[in-house]
Amino acid sequence: MTTLTGHHALVTGGGSGIGAAIALTLAQAGAAVTVCGRRREPLEAAAAQQAGIYAEPADVTDRDAVLNLYKQAEKARGPFGIVIANAGGAQSAAAEKVSPQLWNDTLDVNLSGAFFSVQPALAGMRKRGFGRIVFIASTAGLKGAAYVVPYVAAKHGVIGLMRALAAETAKHGITVNAVCPGYTETPMLDRAVERIAATTKRDAAEARAALAAKNPQGRFITPAEVASTVLWLCGGASAGITGQAIAISGGETW
Ligand code: NAP
Repeated sequence: MTTLTGHHALVTGGGSGIGAAIALTLAQAGAAVTVCGRRREPLEAAAAQQAGIYAEPADVTDRDAVLNLYKQAEKARGPFGIVIANAGGAQSAAAEKVSPQLWNDTLDVNLSGAFFSVQPALAGMRKRGFGRIVFIASTAGLKGAAYVVPYVAAKHGVIGLMRALAAETAKHGITVNAVCPGYTETPMLDRAVERIAATTKRDAAEARAALAAKNPQGRFITPAEVASTVLWLCGGASAGITGQAIAISGGETW
């Protein structure tokens, strides 16, 4: 069993969906886990669910806010040895209708926010000779998908970011990987279903079935499945694994 006792982990977007499952799993393995997001309420709900989870609201697109989060959380619980850059989101639009605002917002949270979330941890990880960084990317980081141009571009960028950081940190006991889920049962999926139902005049059940069918196993991935892969990447048994994009998608990509 992977034990993370003595480690302090940051999970961005840790108040809901995949991030909340990761926070729970890492805390159950013994880590102190700081969760951030823009809304305080879901973070406090995650913290109330399990001892060892601590809520620190911050917007990952705001570099100063992230630096302040590091200051507060590291003062309270020690330096981050584990960072899970999970915060993200997508909106759909045909490519020709993508506004500059939608383009910038999507890259800000999914790509720049991911970098801002891990960058302040790097110097300390290097000094201590240990670090575990996991980006929650997507199968949209590995293949194209219609009507989500900014999201696909951002998630491909996350894979590049992960590979570059892995190359730069491999000699220092730091591993950097990405987990790429297919459609996963979270509030983000619920919002996608609502949008598809509204724009295609299908009912929600049909929209859900169409998305589940994109996974060759004909189902959605669960947040717990993503969390268990993240836990494995944080443990000693995966010390030789760095620079990898691991799909959890029932065979949607290879
Ligand atoms: P979710 O429940 O909507 O979670 C997204 C989380 O990110 C929320 O807790 C949200 O909290 C936080 N967040 C959004 N913008 C933020 C910002 N600017 N600063 C800080 N936190 C922010 O959706 P999810 O499905 O768990 O998504 C988690 C990750 O998995 C995302 O990166 C997503 O792209 C990826 N993913 C999801 C799926 C899927 O099908 N669900 C598939 C592949 C990959 P606040 O709103 O309070 O800020």
